[in-house]
Amino acid sequence: MTQLDQRAAAPHLRVSPGIQGVALDLHAPTPALGSEIRFGAQPKQSANAGLKDALYRELELHVDLSVQGVNIDPADHAALNALGGGRTFGPTRLDEDLTLQLPSFYLPHGLSAGVRLSPHSVYGLVVEDGEPVLCRYGKRRTLVAKLDYRRKPKSPLAGRVTSDGVSFEDIARIDETTGLVHVSYSKECSLKDKGEECKFCNYDNRNAIVKTPRQVGELFAAAVEAGVASSFHLTGGFIPERRELEHYIDVAEEIKARTGLEGFVGSISMGATEDYTIFDKLKEAGYVMIGSNMEVWDRNFRKAIVPGKENQCGGWDNWVASLEYAVKVFGTTKIVSNIVAGIETKKSILEGVEYLCSRGILGNAGIWRPTPGTDLEGHQTPLASWHLDLAFKRVAIYKKYGFTREQIHSYHGAGGIAGIIYRIEDELFEDGKLKSLYHPRLTLQNQTH
Ligand code: SF4
Repeated sequence: MTQLDQRAAAPHLRVSPGIQGVALDLHAPTPALGSEIRFGAQPKQSANAGLKDALYRELELHVDLSVQGVNIDPADHAALNALGGGRTFGPTRLDEDLTLQLPSFYLPHGLSAGVRLSPHSVYGLVVEDGEPVLCRYGKRRTLVAKLDYRRKPKSPLAGRVTSDGVSFEDIARIDETTGLVHVSYSKECSLKDKGEECKFCNYDNRNAIVKTPRQVGELFAAAVEAGVASSFHLTGGFIPERRELEHYIDVAEEIKARTGLEGFVGSISMGATEDYTIFDKLKEAGYVMIGSNMEVWDRNFRKAIVPGKENQCGGWDNWVASLEYAVKVFGTTKIVSNIVAGIETKKSILEGVEYLCSRGILGNAGIWRPTPGTDLEGHQTPLASWHLDLAFKRVAIYKKYGFTREQIHSYHGAGGIAGIIYRIEDELFEDGKLKSLYHPRLTLQNQTH
């Protein structure tokens, strides 16, 4: 017998549109809650109209969970740990003693229920009758949704180490569902020493260990051999003298030497430079996509929020010019630039997204979640309704400039909420749920460079 009352998910959010076409005033004010955003001519009702409506409501909850996080009562740790999981949490600022092993959780229609621990959230994760449920704390604890949970199967690479004895788990995160190997080469960023770090970023670990090209190459080759890797993404902070740019090329050479591949499906995120020939070298090395994040579009805001990216990389004008050069080298839709969504105005973000997309650059705008240890710790990201409105307007821009679902899913993390909207509109359904497709399953034979 459940202790919780059934309740509609996140009824305070109401921005679900039917999204088709592109006739949208991008600078219109955010609609009041309860209103609809109109995207031009509305489609005929499809046979899946009910599922689409349910998914848009679930998307509202998904975004609200991303904004608010989830509060987990210590009394529930034992029951949650008993579910057996793949992801480890803790110790955290929320609870020094907390160690949780959680599987991946999904909402009833297939969207993920991201677990980001937050002591201030109204949402909670509890176990009822042996099953995980999402609840909402108030005068009484009420049920929001029963969760589907998926344990990670044991990896064929479990327990493997590099030739110098470092655990593969410390080198990369491998998403075996999509074949994406994600490497953050270091937590170091030399902008910190200059006092010019980005105000939302907590990379500051001076002399942090840098994962060597050899370690990364060994891991990727083993993952390819085990059949669990099809694409590769490399990211990290600035290394003094911008040595990370050489590092990217060395990693690519190691991968090619160890896999025997001429090229590979690989992407990196990097800061702009004033020597544009680096893009030619990166393409030559084997990468097929580049991310180079503006972070902030408004010129004046940018100087205050990302001073190092402004001062060390030739300023706003050079950053944009380098992105445009990169498009000439890699082709349209192969260059991605993120604007942190929630620091500057929505109008400014949309101007940036539109400018970038009009030049063949995918302008992304991921949700800003203020991070502990940064200058913006304790700030709030905007409401879920703000982020949803921004996402629908972004999708309208993507459609206007012809970006396809595959293209916006190709780069690690670029899909986000916009990617979910594309999947709902494309009716990518399976067994009454949205089909899982966080990144395309690229094959190593797909590479063309
Ligand atoms: S460049 Fe900015 S966002 Fe990137 S690691 Fe350094 S401080 Fe962080």
